[in-house]
Amino acid sequence: MAEHQLPHVVIVGGGFGGLAVARALRKAPVRITVVDRSNHNLFQPLLYQVATATLAPGDIAAPIRHLLRKQRNVTVAMAEVTGVDVANRRVLVNYLGQPDTPFEYDYLILATGASHSYFGHNEFEPFAPGLKTLADAESVRAKVLKAFETAEIEEDPSKHQDLLTFVLVGAGPTGVEMAGALAELRRFTLKSDFRRIDPLRARIILAEALPRILANFPEELSRKAQARLESVGVELRLGKPVTAIDEAHVVIGDETIPCRTVIWTAGVTPSPAGKWLNAPTDKAGRVRVQPDCSVPGHAEVFVIGDTASLDQDGKPLPGVAQVAMQEGRYVGKVIENRETRRPAPQPFRYFDKGNMAVIGRGFAILDSRFAKLSGLPAWLAWAFIHILFLPAFGNRLRVWTQAIWSYFTRQKSSQLIVEPRSGQTPAPPGAQLSEKRSDGYQGLNMARNAGLLLLLLAGSLSLFPISLHAQSSNPGQPFEVSTMTESAAVTSANSAPASESPSATEKGWVVGIGSINAFYHSGATIATSGQTIPGATANVSNNYSLMFDVRRYIARDLSLTLMAGVPPKPTITGEGSVASLGELGKVRYGPAILTAEYHLPKLRAFRPYVGAGTAYAIILKEHDAAVSQLGVRNNWGTVLEAGAEHQLSRNMALFVDVKEVWLAVDAHGSLYGVAPVTAHVNLNPTIVSVGIRFHPSLGIFDRH
Ligand SMILES: Cc1cc2nc3c(=O)[nH]c(=O)nc-3n(C[C@H](O)[C@H](O)[C@H](O)COP(=O)(O)OP(=O)(O)OC[C@H]3O[C@@H](n4cnc5c(N)ncnc54)[C@H](O)[C@@H]3O)c2cc1C
Repeated sequence: MAEHQLPHVVIVGGGFGGLAVARALRKAPVRITVVDRSNHNLFQPLLYQVATATLAPGDIAAPIRHLLRKQRNVTVAMAEVTGVDVANRRVLVNYLGQPDTPFEYDYLILATGASHSYFGHNEFEPFAPGLKTLADAESVRAKVLKAFETAEIEEDPSKHQDLLTFVLVGAGPTGVEMAGALAELRRFTLKSDFRRIDPLRARIILAEALPRILANFPEELSRKAQARLESVGVELRLGKPVTAIDEAHVVIGDETIPCRTVIWTAGVTPSPAGKWLNAPTDKAGRVRVQPDCSVPGHAEVFVIGDTASLDQDGKPLPGVAQVAMQEGRYVGKVIENRETRRPAPQPFRYFDKGNMAVIGRGFAILDSRFAKLSGLPAWLAWAFIHILFLPAFGNRLRVWTQAIWSYFTRQKSSQLIVEPRSGQTPAPPGAQLSEKRSDGYQGLNMARNAGLLLLLLAGSLSLFPISLHAQSSNPGQPFEVSTMTESAAVTSANSAPASESPSATEKGWVVGIGSINAFYHSGATIATSGQTIPGATANVSNNYSLMFDVRRYIARDLSLTLMAGVPPKPTITGEGSVASLGELGKVRYGPAILTAEYHLPKLRAFRPYVGAGTAYAIILKEHDAAVSQLGVRNNWGTVLEAGAEHQLSRNMALFVDVKEVWLAVDAHGSLYGVAPVTAHVNLNPTIVSVGIRFHPSLGIFDRH
């Protein structure tokens, strides 16, 4: 069939849902047009990081056109949809300045998302901007940074507190994450940047009408998150609604708080798709869809994501990215099956993979069917998963670098106030996305990248781009079906049991959680100035670790895996030790293991594989003050890094994995301390890791 005769699928919205439909239809005999009013796909879960100056806009967004460039059956159009003529199967588009230009469709998917809702108080909007788009995030960032700038030059100190009071309305995940990030900005990032004000004096107030924060998380996790917020100095106002906001005040219950910066992090309202279709909606205005996501009476029109309302087990599905993505993939399948005359799939069922919220550096909560975690383990999982699901490889690499940089330096790299000066016209929205960093900023990035090369090498190896399509998007070319299947974490997370090896034509990702490893350290000796001290020994307690891993199949049966572990807490004690060495104290390390694994194809039933890899341990010292430095040597005696708090160790390992039970025998690593006199603690451990690996298709950032 000639390309122009193929059924035309129009997808409105290139967000989480729309992109998932387009990708799911990559091999279907259809022509696809993705229409979006913005040119980029935005990773909204990290918007708050742009608003708090951690990330730049381009780090969390990628042009839709670029993301779909290799999919030949897709054309992307940047235009705003204004309505739908369902009877004539036409979507109305504001096209090249012509309003309501009709575009014909055979299938229509509305994935137009949501925007923020002021719950009937639209008068709050000018004083309390919300966070939904990149432009919103940039304007919030400018507002926050300008508050500090204004306070610095304000001569009247009595005005400083009002200028430095930030109120966030709504303690859902966005409000909580934003409050945590602001607390960090105030406490660490800006701490030495000002001369006349003390950024630590800034107040961060989080207001919530409900009696607790993060109402969609279990109470226990919500309590832990609350304790964490309080420990970083965030003030909470719970159980009281915000009743008034103007340019100088916020009223919460009966308390009036003088304040110049209010940020709205409550409520969302769906796009007007329900009005366009004249279809039944729920109370919030989301279109009530059938179990196959189609609109009642119109089997060819589908609504998905934040703008759709579908119940499962008597409850409406939440407005989260995973729902939008899963619905998108499902609708793609429905259409493909219809066009290839295959039976319709079972009604849509959402697989809830869990919710997460992060509060500053090193703390998150995770609520999933597999585990309820808080603290660093949850944060590691959060960081890992969020980076993995960013739209493009460039985003992943930049955010990965930035995350490591910020973790160790507590610096935020995007503290720029970018605003037109009076008389200048504002930059067009597209310009914000292509914002190039200044030379200084690029220099900073280069230095940062060079310094982190080692970690990046390890990380980037397992973060190859998801897209594996071989052809470019060119609507003029005849349609060809790609021979390669895109797998990606996205798909593995969706369907096939992730622990299965891919088929011959597939390459892709497997995300795993829950490899519980026992590490056994066989003993240690203490030496001073290279001489072993008679009678001086050190013991390392056994410990265990919970690992997360991402496996990337680079060819059939050959994969690269990066595993990162939750720090166990071995305790090292010295006996008969040198006085100056004292007790070595606690060492915390989280192993990161990079391996190449070969899966023995003939024994697939048992899934054994062998691999060789390199293990890295990140060591945080909490040792006796007398020991001025603590480092790690690898098994060849080379000092990889010394004198810093965070150290790397490298070991070769052999892995054998039979039916998810794996055994790794690690070679030596040694830990040494440099005291006023040079002293070494040689651990020479044999590390035997025994564990169980699950690959239960761990989801991303679902929450609410
Ligand atoms: C600050 C913030 C943080 C969040 N954090 C999380 C999180 O941690 N985890 C999680 O799971 N979810 C999170 N969410 C929710 C998640 O982002 C949404 O559920 C998800 O984006 C919904 O996907 P969607 O495809 O329905 O809409 P979107 O991804 O919003 O995409 C809608 C697209 O439609 C386009 N569009 C809209 N109207 C038109 C029109 N008239 N014409 C043309 N194009 C149009 C928009 O430009 C946009 O590209 C967060 C949301 C926000 C705002």
